[in-house]
Amino acid sequence: MIRKTRLYTPGPTPLLPAAQFAMAAADIHHRTPEFRALFQKVLAQLKVFVGTRNDVLLLSSSGTGAMEAAVTNLTSPGDRVLVLTAGKFGERWTGLVKTFGCVPDVVSAPYGQTFSLDQIRTALKPEHRAVFVQATETSTAVRHDIEAIAKLIRESAPDTLLVVDGITGLGTTHFDVDGWGIDVLIGGSQKAVMIPPGLAYLSVSDRAWAAMETAKNPRYYFDLRKERKNAVKGESAYTPAVALVAGLGGALDYIAGQAGGDLEKGRIALVNNAEVNAAATRAGLAALGFTLFAPTAPAAAATAVAVPEGMDSGLVVKALKARFALIAANGQGEMQGKIFRVAHLGFFDYLDTVALLGAMEHIAKDTLGLPVVYGQAVEAAQRVYAAASSS
Ligand SMILES: *Cc1c(COP(=O)(O)O)cnc(C)c1O
Repeated sequence: MIRKTRLYTPGPTPLLPAAQFAMAAADIHHRTPEFRALFQKVLAQLKVFVGTRNDVLLLSSSGTGAMEAAVTNLTSPGDRVLVLTAGKFGERWTGLVKTFGCVPDVVSAPYGQTFSLDQIRTALKPEHRAVFVQATETSTAVRHDIEAIAKLIRESAPDTLLVVDGITGLGTTHFDVDGWGIDVLIGGSQKAVMIPPGLAYLSVSDRAWAAMETAKNPRYYFDLRKERKNAVKGESAYTPAVALVAGLGGALDYIAGQAGGDLEKGRIALVNNAEVNAAATRAGLAALGFTLFAPTAPAAAATAVAVPEGMDSGLVVKALKARFALIAANGQGEMQGKIFRVAHLGFFDYLDTVALLGAMEHIAKDTLGLPVVYGQAVEAAQRVYAAASSS
């Protein structure tokens, strides 16, 4: 039988064909009126996609570049900061802030869980320059409660900046950026916006712009004030990834088109789509006897699943690839071999979920030797879909 390659990884994610065509046609110079029109259009669309009145900037880098930009533009060596970490991406914040001389207090939760608000309340000090956290911790497929965390910070440390890595949270979680007071919210191109890696975007609040005036950490390529000045003119400070910008415009058009041309409604539909697909996937895999790795605070961006004790999750990843050319993700770091992860992030629809669960029935039976009745995972997912579409 032939096989079609299908990415189910939580970044990079499947590419939107319309965005690929836009990229192929993007043979334009970046200091021209044509590019300025495109760049301004995409920046305006990104504001709607992020859901904010704050400035949104676009950087030519992977997501980590925007994380580094947040640290260097907002902090000075010696600053006390608070890092909330529950996995590999949380640990990236700790590494970044230490690299730039900040002194982190760290609140951590075990892999597969989120923090309690009491933990954060106890650790948070008004002298913390900033709090760094993920919206969704992609390594464990956990969602953190950004609304509650933001409320706590705004009440008890009003001057502390809240920096959220929403790289897999955007497009899979509803945010009220301005209402909750998120100072920086970061996204990446290879996640919910359906294009290849290479762009990062971030919203920046007035409080964050003011904080930049006193931040002393060094920055050159990722100087956000310089980017803002250029963005006003429809340009970026350096040569941008022009083709990706064109692709991003195509993807945001598609998302708007899913809701009759209204990008805000399209974004809401995209988030709800991820929620239903994630819930259907959890139900389907649980019906096969798998244990969810993050049962208490599951993300809609991705689902992490533990394999039965003594089994290797790598076997599932390998078998999915060998039999169906379906690319799933193993666990990262210490979680490798214990869990596997599948995404619902961006260009995934309900039928992609059905396909995955159909494949998983074969893998569970043939590779892991679990007692499987064909159709049982698919049926559980169909029940979730039916309930969601009737409500
Ligand atoms: C993908 C991802 C990143 C960014 O990684 P890059 O490889 O730099 O694009 C950061 N945080 C989270 C939560 C992610 O999922």
